[in-house]
Formats: sequence, C-alpha cells, structure tokens
Amino acid sequence: MKKCLLVFFLLAATVITTAQKLSKTEQKIVNNIDADFTAAMELLKSSVNINSGTFNTEGVKKVGELYSKELKALGFTVERISLPDSLKRAGHLVAYRKGKKGKKLFLIGHLDTVFEPSMPSNPYTVLTDSTATGQGVNDMKGGDVMIIAALKALHQLKLLDDASITVYFTGDEENAGEPKSISRGDFIERAKQHDIALGFEGAMGLNIVATARRGASSWKLEVEAQQGHSSGVFATGGYGAIYEASRIINEFREKLGKEEYLTFNPGLFIGGSNVTYNEAAQKGEASGKTNIISPKTVVIGDLRFLSEQQKEKARENMRQIVANSLPNAKATIRFEDGIPSMPPTPGNDSLVKVVNDISIALGYGEVTAGNPGSRGAGDISYVAEYLNCLDGLGASGKGAHAPGEILNLTEYPRLLKRAALMIYRLTR
Ligand SMILES: [Zn+2]
Repeated sequence: MKKCLLVFFLLAATVITTAQKLSKTEQKIVNNIDADFTAAMELLKSSVNINSGTFNTEGVKKVGELYSKELKALGFTVERISLPDSLKRAGHLVAYRKGKKGKKLFLIGHLDTVFEPSMPSNPYTVLTDSTATGQGVNDMKGGDVMIIAALKALHQLKLLDDASITVYFTGDEENAGEPKSISRGDFIERAKQHDIALGFEGAMGLNIVATARRGASSWKLEVEAQQGHSSGVFATGGYGAIYEASRIINEFREKLGKEEYLTFNPGLFIGGSNVTYNEAAQKGEASGKTNIISPKTVVIGDLRFLSEQQKEKARENMRQIVANSLPNAKATIRFEDGIPSMPPTPGNDSLVKVVNDISIALGYGEVTAGNPGSRGAGDISYVAEYLNCLDGLGASGKGAHAPGEILNLTEYPRLLKRAALMIYRLTR
C-alpha cells in the first residue's frame, strides 16, 4: 500500500514537472515565434492603420480581408458571414480547419474598434522600447494578430494538421447589431460544435486570466402619481412621482448595493409635471413647477451580474421594492436582457491550470483567475453556457476605448508564445 502511494506520488511529481517544462517541439514553436515576430508586428501595424470603427463597415471588412489572407495561407477554410442590411454591421469572419486530434477549439477575436472615422486618427506608433499606440492596438487587434501568429508558428511545424480549430472574428463586438439572435446566431451555433472557447480580449499582464465576466442588462422604471397642489404633499396629496422614484432607487442601493458582483446604475432620472422620454435615443424632456406634486417620473439604468441566478434574484428583489408604493403613486419596472454573463465554472478553472503550467515553463510566473467584477461583458459570454471558456488571453496594455490606447511591447511576444503553446497543448 505504502509502495503504491509512493509510486503514485512519484508519477504525479513527474506529470507536474513535465507539464511545467517545455518539450523539444514546444521549444521549436517558441523559436518560430521569435523568428517571425517582425512579420507579426507588421501585420499588427497594417491592421491598426485601417480604421474599423463598428459603423465603418467598409473598414471592418478590409481588416477582415487582411486577416482572411493570412488564415487561408495557414490552410484554413475562410467564410464571410454577412448580416441583413437592417443591422447596419459589417458581418463576421470565420476560418476553420477540422481534424480528429485533441480538443476542438473556438478562438475569439473582433475586427471592429470603438474609433469611428470621425474621431481623431491615431496611426500605429512606437512610443518607447516597451509601448506602442494605435486604434485597437490593445482592444483588440493585438489579440487578433496574436491568434494568427500563434497558428502560423504551429502551422510551420505541421502541428495544425489534424487539429479542429475555428477562428471567429466578429465585426461588431463593440456594438452588437440588434437583434442579437441574428448578429450572434451563427457565432453561437458554431461555438456549440467545439469543446473550449478561448477569448483574446486584452490581457491584464502576464499573470491574470479571466474565467468569468459579468453580464449586462437594463431596466426602466416608470412612476405615475396623483398630481396636485404642493401644499398637500405628505398628506392628502400623497407623495408624487419624484419622491416615489427616489424612494425606489434609494432602496435599491440600500438593500442590494452590497452584494458582490452585482451593480445597477441609474443613468437617467427625469420627472416633473410633463415628461417625454425617447427610448431609442435615451433622451427626455421635462417641465414642472415648484407648487405642483409631480405626476410622472422615468428612470433608466443598467444591471450587471455574474450568473443568471444572481440576475433573476436581483430582479425579484427590485420588483418587490417597486411594488411597495407610497400613497397615491404607482410604479412599474421593466427589465431587458443584454449580454449574458460568463460565470466561473470548474471547467473554466481547469483551463487556468493549462495556462499556468505553460507560463511557469516559459519562466513568466504563475497565472491565476482575475476578479470577475473587473471585466465587462464580451462576445465569449454568448457561448459560455455551452463550452468551457477562458478570456483575457490577448495583448496587454492600457487605455482600451480611450484615444491613445497602449500596447505593452515587452509582454506581447511572451503572451504570444503562451497562446501558441496553449493551442498546441489543447489540440494534442
Ligand atoms: Zn474588445
């Protein structure tokens, strides 16, 4: 019995050390990345210099064409997924190859950025030894090029030959076309045919990855109350719509504001005696008088959550608060789904171990899962309920969505090597 245990521990120790050391093939992959790094940076520069704001559909398509050429050269079958004109989006780029070896991988990127042609341009510029700037250099053309360069290094060693890999670059991640059932329909259907989704959105340095992302949704509160002379407020006149809406919003904060990973933010609050509200524009007008008890108030806000259960429970609690009306007032709340959450799961956690082993073998230190509260919703969230997911594998830097966003040039080749080895190990 003791001997068995000893053998077991020795075996386990061997497994751990081999996983945390690079094999000969893996060393070759790393060498290929170094040898080809200049080409990868050229590709990044070219793609950053094409404006691909979500609504600049021509630009988004051009970035797609650039990547499409690269992926075809690596033996991928490439398809362009177009969307109905009514969505006013460029559509997506899909590249796939099918085989029988290892896990089926679904690699996620996006072609668009938040920067439209009307905004000041910011061509790719190296700022220092360790930083470069450019539109989407961090979010997320850096991640897109990382996928392509990682696959190239594997392809050069014929390591993709029997692997099943789909690369899915959406064209409207920053502002998904409505309805989402159409803009994300093909994305979800294809993802379902895989085992693991890897998202190459911005990395938070070398040592943190994302096993979870919060989902986003919205709500609209409408309050109607009896209009009257202000002298009757608190008594015969009741409280009016503004007091009632304030009570509700404040109780939301007091009763639900301390729950971990749950946030809700009123973004617009409009009340008075005459109120108009334009839903599509999220805009409104109000007029009122100091001596009139307000008959109408509208409030809109968001609701962010880590799991469907948390979202549903929060909605139920909010409904109860809303129903508990002050005299002469009546409120209703309507909830609308946005992007689902990617909750942390044991399957997602198991992928952290894979990255961690690779990172240690490369000498880059331990990798752990980051705080889910720190990340917003993303494309990977749409498929999180169907397969194991890991995100935040892309380029590191700072200032995503702000002019002058920065790519960390020191970490970029390291993250690229880590990505290539991750794809390699998962497809054995
Ligand atoms: Zn992004």
